[in-house]
Amino acid sequence: MNSSNASCSTTDDDISVRQPLNVEGAWDDHINETGFISSGLRSNTSHESFSGYDHRKKVLILYTGGTMGMKPGVDGSLSPEKGYLTERIKEMPEMNLHNMPEYEIIEYTPLLDSSCMGPGDWMKMARDVEARYDSFDGFVVIMGTDTMAYASSALSFMLENLSKTVVFTGSQIPFCEVYNDARRNLIVSILFAANSDFPEVCICFNDKLFRANRTVKVNSISLDAYDSPNFPPLATLGARIHENRELVRTRPNLPLRVHKSLDANVVVIKLVPGFQSESIQALVTYSKTIKGIVLELYGTGNGPSTNEGLLSAIRAAREKGVVVVAISQCMRGGVSLDTYSMGREFQNAGVVSGGDMTCEACTTKLAYLFACLDDHHEVARRLSEDLRGEVTTKQIKTNKYFSNPSVPKELLKSPQRR
Ligand code: ASP
Repeated sequence: MNSSNASCSTTDDDISVRQPLNVEGAWDDHINETGFISSGLRSNTSHESFSGYDHRKKVLILYTGGTMGMKPGVDGSLSPEKGYLTERIKEMPEMNLHNMPEYEIIEYTPLLDSSCMGPGDWMKMARDVEARYDSFDGFVVIMGTDTMAYASSALSFMLENLSKTVVFTGSQIPFCEVYNDARRNLIVSILFAANSDFPEVCICFNDKLFRANRTVKVNSISLDAYDSPNFPPLATLGARIHENRELVRTRPNLPLRVHKSLDANVVVIKLVPGFQSESIQALVTYSKTIKGIVLELYGTGNGPSTNEGLLSAIRAAREKGVVVVAISQCMRGGVSLDTYSMGREFQNAGVVSGGDMTCEACTTKLAYLFACLDDHHEVARRLSEDLRGEVTTKQIKTNKYFSNPSVPKELLKSPQRR
């Protein structure tokens, strides 16, 4: 990852504080006995869902770029067009219904393909949420899907004590096409941002609302582009919308605290059989800036512990103060370094377990922690803590393997930690 801010300590300038607006129980009246949301009309029929509010909520839309607002050029390739999506949104009949939230759009300049975005862009998003935090009930970020899981994970760490819903969304097909997923993804995201009881950063895509820092882009062409491999969806959309109420995190009593710097000097290394340790050794020896290495190990955290070069490179990295964290190459489950003796060797060499974190959550969490903390030991320690619901801290094992977590309630409801 590229670093766009090399700061590694927290200054007053890096953090600012906003009082939380009390939106307790925003949707409580609208949940019927079966757990379905009948937002507004207190009805659970499909066509009446999502209409009618006692008072109009306000949602801020940050439009940063991505396929949703792209148009084909002369060669047929898609690129964002200034003003196009913003105008189309304003023309959508749905947006002007009295029972939809009021909204405001901030269109970024330039609009970007998300593959060109990084920490600097995420910081801007965090600042924009902060600047308008008191004036809006919820926030929607429209961006490209390619790096949405990274951006939204980063925001989840940067927005400490978030008591409102921030929903990231995008689409696989541009709004300008007759057949598209843009319109629905946008409308549903706005409704979740205005009304949901999830005080956290989410991704709304296709038929699900996810905890952002648990998501991975799993499909480059399907409309079902996102998944949350180790954590259940917060809500599922069908003819009715089912909110997973037991996943609602405790709304923090503390004011919003925005961490405005990231230090993303992090490299991800995926081991493959036959991997030559010289490349890691060279990286550790010659890089002057690297602060973190995310090692994608096999299975529950295994690798060639007989490869002395690899272990000595890891030890050298730790001696230089580089934090080395292991995550799994497997989509589901996670790392448990004490399962096999090989994993233990990595642990003994100083590798920290990333548990069931996604690569996206792990790298952005490192970037957040490096910006907040000067001490790499402290970064390594905090890395395995659950800060924003991004990691399952209690390993739930069936024999020796991770099971797909049905996470204990007290864990799910744990408040945010700094
Ligand atoms: N390349 C696009 C982007 O990430 C893909 C998308 O929007 O889905 O901006």
